[in-house]
Amino acid sequence: MKQSVLILGVTGSIGMSTINVLNQYQDDYQIKAIVSGSNWQDLARIAKEHKVQYVGISDESSYNNLKDELSGTDCQVFAGQEGILEICGKGYDIAVAAIAGFAGLASTIAAAKYSKKLCIANKESIVCAWNLINQASKASGCKIIPVDSEHSALFQCIENHNNKKIHKVAITASGGALRDYSRDQMAGVTPEIALKHPNWNMGAKVTIDSATLVNKGLEAIEAAKLFDLSSSEVDVIVHRESIVHGLVYYSDGSVISQLGVPDMRSTISYAIGYPHRMEINHSLLNLPEMTKLSFEAPDFTRFPMLKLALSLIDDEQYKLITFNSADEVAVNAFLKGQIGFLDIERVITETLSNMRNPNSLGTLEEIQQFNQSVIEQASKCL
Ligand code: MG
Repeated sequence: MKQSVLILGVTGSIGMSTINVLNQYQDDYQIKAIVSGSNWQDLARIAKEHKVQYVGISDESSYNNLKDELSGTDCQVFAGQEGILEICGKGYDIAVAAIAGFAGLASTIAAAKYSKKLCIANKESIVCAWNLINQASKASGCKIIPVDSEHSALFQCIENHNNKKIHKVAITASGGALRDYSRDQMAGVTPEIALKHPNWNMGAKVTIDSATLVNKGLEAIEAAKLFDLSSSEVDVIVHRESIVHGLVYYSDGSVISQLGVPDMRSTISYAIGYPHRMEINHSLLNLPEMTKLSFEAPDFTRFPMLKLALSLIDDEQYKLITFNSADEVAVNAFLKGQIGFLDIERVITETLSNMRNPNSLGTLEEIQQFNQSVIEQASKCL
C-alpha cells in the first residue's frame, strides 16, 4: 500500500525538492495533502498533477482563487491557520514540515501529533518550541527525522550507535555569501549581494541567515535540542566546500562524519525513506577531483551572531524565541531595504536586552503570545 504524505510549505525550496524525490517513487508514496503560504497558482498546479486530496493555503484572501482553479477536481480546499490544522489532523504516514520561520510552528506540532513520521526542516520550530514538538511526538509515537543537511548528517552518524557515548558533535558552515567580507564591507551589503550563497540554493530568509551566520546559530541550537546536548557538546566548523556536513566525536576517539555533494534531495529522501535508503539521480562525490577540503574555526568577531546563538544554547526558552523572531523581523526589514545588513544584529541584540521572561511558555498559545511581543519589540528597534 502507498504511504500517504503531507507536505507543509510545498511551494518553497524544500517542498519542491520533496516533490522531485517523490516523483521518482509514485508507486510507493501518495501525496495526500499540500499546504502553502500564498502561492495559490503553484499550489493548484501541484494539486492537479498529483491528484492531491487536501489543499491548504494560509493566506485566506487567496482562498477563492485557489478554489476556482481547483473546481471540477476532487480536491478539498482549506484556508487560514485553522484550515491548515484541520488538514494536519487527518493523519499521514509521513509529514514533511518545510514552512520557513515561526509561521510553521503550529502546523509542525500538529503534524507531530497526527503523523507516524515527521521529516522536519522547520528549524525555527525546534528552536522556539522543542518542548511542544517533543511532547507531541512522544505522545503519538511519531518518529522525528531531521531534514536540515547538518542534522541529517548527525542523525546518520548517531543512528545505530550508542548515543550515551558521544563526546561532542560538530556541524559545518560554508560561511555564507559574506565569508570573506570585512565588517566595513558588510556595512554596505545589499540584499542582492547577501542572497548569493556560494554552495546552496535556498529560500531568501535562510540565505540571509547564512550570510549573518544566524542560520548556523539556529542550527547549533537545533542540534542541541534534537540530540539532547549542552552548549559544550556542540561545535561549529567553517568548511567552505559543504561536502562534510556533520561529525560525531565518540568517547573512544572515533569520529564519524557524513559526506555528500550539497543537494537537499539527498537528506529529504533519507528522511522520507528512513529506515530504507531511496535512490535519487544525484552527482557522485568525487574526492580525488576536489583539490582540497578546508576546515577553519568560525570568526566570532566578524560574525557575532553565531557566538551569541552558541551562548544561548543552555539558556532559557524565551531567549531562544527572542533570538529567532527578532531575526525574522530584521531579515524581513533588510530584504525590503528598510535597514542595513549590520542592523540585523543590532535589532537582535537590542530586542534580547529588552525582553523579559514571561510566566510560562508551556502551551502553543503562550509561545505565540510571547512571540507577538518579540515582534512588536523588534519592530521598535528597526
Ligand atoms: Mg543547514
